[in-house]
Amino acid sequence: MVDLRCNDYGFECSYVTEGAVEKVVFEYWDHMKKEHGIEYATETIGNSIKRKTRQIKLPA
Ligand SMILES: [Zn+2]
Repeated sequence: MVDLRCNDYGFECSYVTEGAVEKVVFEYWDHMKKEHGIEYATETIGNSIKRKTRQIKLPA
């Protein structure tokens, strides 16, 4: 299980998502797009989760 906090990315935003990697990546991507108007590559989000956690396998 992993988590991502929007304020880790420098936003003044209390959004947090946690759970399975795939879910977190998708939910955070969706949040960024809808709330902040930024469309990150899911790969970028996945990589930052990997950096935080290390022992995670991302879906190919
Ligand atoms: Zn946010």
